[in-house]
Amino acid sequence: MSYPQLKITFLGTGTSSGVPMIGCHCEVCRSSDVKDKRLRSSILVQSALTTLVVDTTPDFRYQMLREKIDKLDAVIFTHPHKDHIAGLDDIRAYNFFLKRPMEIFANSLTEAALKREFFYIFAEKKYPGLPNVNLNLIVDNPFWVGDILVEPVFVHHLNMPVLGFKFNGFTYITDANRIDEIERDKIKRSHTIVLNALRKEQHISHYNLKEAVEIVDDLQIPNAFFTHISHQMGKHEEVSKCLPDNRKLAWDRLTLHI
Ligand SMILES: [Zn+2]
Ligand SMILES: [Zn+2]
Repeated sequence: MSYPQLKITFLGTGTSSGVPMIGCHCEVCRSSDVKDKRLRSSILVQSALTTLVVDTTPDFRYQMLREKIDKLDAVIFTHPHKDHIAGLDDIRAYNFFLKRPMEIFANSLTEAALKREFFYIFAEKKYPGLPNVNLNLIVDNPFWVGDILVEPVFVHHLNMPVLGFKFNGFTYITDANRIDEIERDKIKRSHTIVLNALRKEQHISHYNLKEAVEIVDDLQIPNAFFTHISHQMGKHEEVSKCLPDNRKLAWDRLTLHI
């Protein structure tokens, strides 16, 4: 079976508060390096035919404008935390120009949260001009978005089940602090992984940098990029000096061809 060439764009690589953080004057938040400007974590996945986004962050509108995305086929959600769903309302523009509902994919936990937090989208009698979505439930199986095959990976974010996604040999996991053995087997043969690494210090629901490096080394994945980064990580340039060539901090607008 042949897979289409995919382009991955990092739309955001920051933790829930983004970098800089409102009101913070630390050296990272004051940095003039563009790699220290991190919107909330999301990626765009594109084949020649299909464009999908993983999560709609509070920065979704700006992320779509910045990358000039005129056509979006689907949103796939990792989990219902606000920094991953807050931008959903802005898919209205795509409804308007593409004249069709937006295909969204979520597990049952995220489905319940979307129906709670965006109740008006799912109301029986809808006010004209509201977002229009077609909700697809993610269960165990891989699924297709256009010509892109998406394989869900099940990870833990403290007590919350979170979905990672595997696209051919590329795996994206944005909020985790534990991955079961069976899922590790699933991601082992990836050529590239994106994994969350919040900061250097321990955290209750996120891998720190040391833990993230250990996992990707342990799984012998050739290339790794770390995401969902806090200002507490330190400056991009300085942290990068301490990492090997094939284990990098991701940055906003980084693109990969896979
Ligand atoms: Zn998050
Ligand atoms: Zn700061």
